[in-house]
Amino acid sequence: MHRARRLRAQRLIPALGVDAVLVTSGVNVRYLTGLVSSNAAVLIPRDGPSVLCTDSRYAGTAERECPDVEIVIQRDTEAALTERALDSGLRAIAFEDREMTVQRHRALAGLDGEEVVGHGGAALELVPLDGAIDDLRIVKDEVELALLARACEITGEAFSAVMDRLRPGMTEREFAVALERVMVDLGADGPAFASIVASGPNGAIPHHVPSDRPFERGDLVTIDCGAKFGGYHADMTRTVAIGQPEAWQREIYDLVALAQEAGVAVAVVGADVADVDAVARDVIEGAGYGGNFTHGLGHGVGLEIHEAPWLGQDKTGTLADRVPITIEPGIYLAGAGGVRIEDTLVVHAGTGAAGSAQSLTTITRELLVL
Ligand code: ZN
Ligand code: ZN
Repeated sequence: MHRARRLRAQRLIPALGVDAVLVTSGVNVRYLTGLVSSNAAVLIPRDGPSVLCTDSRYAGTAERECPDVEIVIQRDTEAALTERALDSGLRAIAFEDREMTVQRHRALAGLDGEEVVGHGGAALELVPLDGAIDDLRIVKDEVELALLARACEITGEAFSAVMDRLRPGMTEREFAVALERVMVDLGADGPAFASIVASGPNGAIPHHVPSDRPFERGDLVTIDCGAKFGGYHADMTRTVAIGQPEAWQREIYDLVALAQEAGVAVAVVGADVADVDAVARDVIEGAGYGGNFTHGLGHGVGLEIHEAPWLGQDKTGTLADRVPITIEPGIYLAGAGGVRIEDTLVVHAGTGAAGSAQSLTTITRELLVL
């Protein structure tokens, strides 16, 4: 599996006009080798086997879990691999400029110079990769989809379990901690991100940090949460009502639900990401709340909680088969509250009604009244 992924990375090399690719972002190293490490890099040459470098803390894991790559154990992974490339006569190296810091780049560039004399005078050339390796991760294989599906399943189970305990007086923080605890009990690596629990007026803040505010009767409560499983991130939001909702609460809930449904319906293979956003946004704008839907419609999920593709007004590209995305419209009314509904879905060719996306988060989208 990892070898096949590295082969796809290797196939990028001719078009980049380089001799090798140096992969330094943790998620991409994991994607290409299986190694989970806070200090590792991979050198993928134009041809021949890849070289994985990590430090002694990960030596055993790398040897056990990463067959068919050459393993080098050294603390300064980037310098080790770059020197290794120069020794092998590889001089043009593509690097992950989205991830590389200026300081680390300077250090690598410094390997050019007197070092280089020992390599037959070949000058090191560092070529930015932009998101070429990240983009390899957009379309998921079956193993990835199964891990993501399990992450979403755990998310739903945890949400249901803790929802039973939600009552006036419980605080946002208590709810968030309880939710994350159940995710771990159910086998999650941990929460995919710090849960958002936004009650009453706090619901008007899309990324509210859970506070000590106790839930009150009459609140809408927005809960944005997800479990991480096998490195894959689930992402789901539900807004629930404590006590019978007032007319304005019901109105914005129904609108957001309608917008979400409209977005999901058009998230098919080949759909333009800006068009999917527009279809959902039109529903909210048409009702006069356009200015209260202040973020993009959704994003890809995988080894990162937010990754390509991006669904938004100014985004470009089309959806492909086997791409997981979120669809998450919201309405935020300052001082009053808000609603967001979000699902993690997989865009599929030819499944379901006319190839519509399959939702991996399956908790009801009807307004839950507690
Ligand atoms: Zn979310
Ligand atoms: Zn999201």
